[in-house]
Amino acid sequence: VKYSVIIPVYNEQEALELTYRELKKLAENFDGGYEIIFVDDGSSDNSLNILKDFAKADKSVKIISFSRNFGHQAAISAGMEHAQGEALIIMDADLQDPPETVLKMIQKWREGYDIVYGKRVKRKGERPFKKLTAYVYYRLLSRITGINIPKDAGDFRLISRKAAQAIISLPEKNRYLRGLNAWVGFKQAEIEYERDPRAAGETKYTLKKMLKLAGDGVISNTNFPLTAMFGFGIVLSLLSFLGFFALAVLAFAGISFDPAFWLLPAVALCSGLIITGLGLIGMYLGRVYDEVKNRPLYIINEKINF
Ligand code: UDP
Ligand code: MG
Repeated sequence: VKYSVIIPVYNEQEALELTYRELKKLAENFDGGYEIIFVDDGSSDNSLNILKDFAKADKSVKIISFSRNFGHQAAISAGMEHAQGEALIIMDADLQDPPETVLKMIQKWREGYDIVYGKRVKRKGERPFKKLTAYVYYRLLSRITGINIPKDAGDFRLISRKAAQAIISLPEKNRYLRGLNAWVGFKQAEIEYERDPRAAGETKYTLKKMLKLAGDGVISNTNFPLTAMFGFGIVLSLLSFLGFFALAVLAFAGISFDPAFWLLPAVALCSGLIITGLGLIGMYLGRVYDEVKNRPLYIINEKINF
């Protein structure tokens, strides 16, 4: 097969029929064989049975069904590991990612791009709270991680076999795929699209799941929160010396003040040293985390004359 369409599904019984029909329509425009991999992420509704009906009548439909709900990122990862196509296309099950955008992604892939991600220029039918938090989050994330994680891009994307192999080879468990996609490099392109409202059903991303994902996005891509305190601790310690100096000047000048004031810089010094120490521990912990993540040292794009 040339194309693998990967769809994570969690309690999507209302949307699946329509999604499947739209996917088949899309696939008519493919210039090669394809498979549609539905990953049922432990749905408790009728989703799995609906999928099984598709699979019975249509050999291009493949199903991976989880034993329980493991989450969106795990579902996509499973789909990627089982995909056999040359290009992997990851889409949500609710048709929020417009299928016609996929053809533009394929066009870019043909031009030689390895990762073509969808950038949301507009989100229709989503609550202001979600729009605002997403807007702020993506900007904050790219600022503090220093990795070029595209803003306003979700998991909707096309990934070449080569890039997919690299992403699959990263063994970490707290997977934030948008970060891993950016980290592996390769030629990346973006396609702008307008995110449609959900075709049917409710969002499956509870606030808790969203927070976990947001946390993974930051923590798995930067040790900044661990080490940021180091500098603050040093500054605080230095400032405490300024405090000691100021009080000493007053004392020499014969200006009387309550001796309890000496406690202020003393407390600042102790706090500063403690915070510096915590930051130092954070630096080691960050290295330990990097080692445990066990990402490869580098990823090769191509080798020539070997
Ligand atoms: N999803 C999943 N496991 C989960 C939550 C969501 O596989 O635990 C799937 C869901 O079925 C959908 C996609 O992930 O295909 C995105 O979820 P949703 O549309 O609810 O998120 P939103 O678009 O509201 O951010
Ligand atoms: Mg959605």
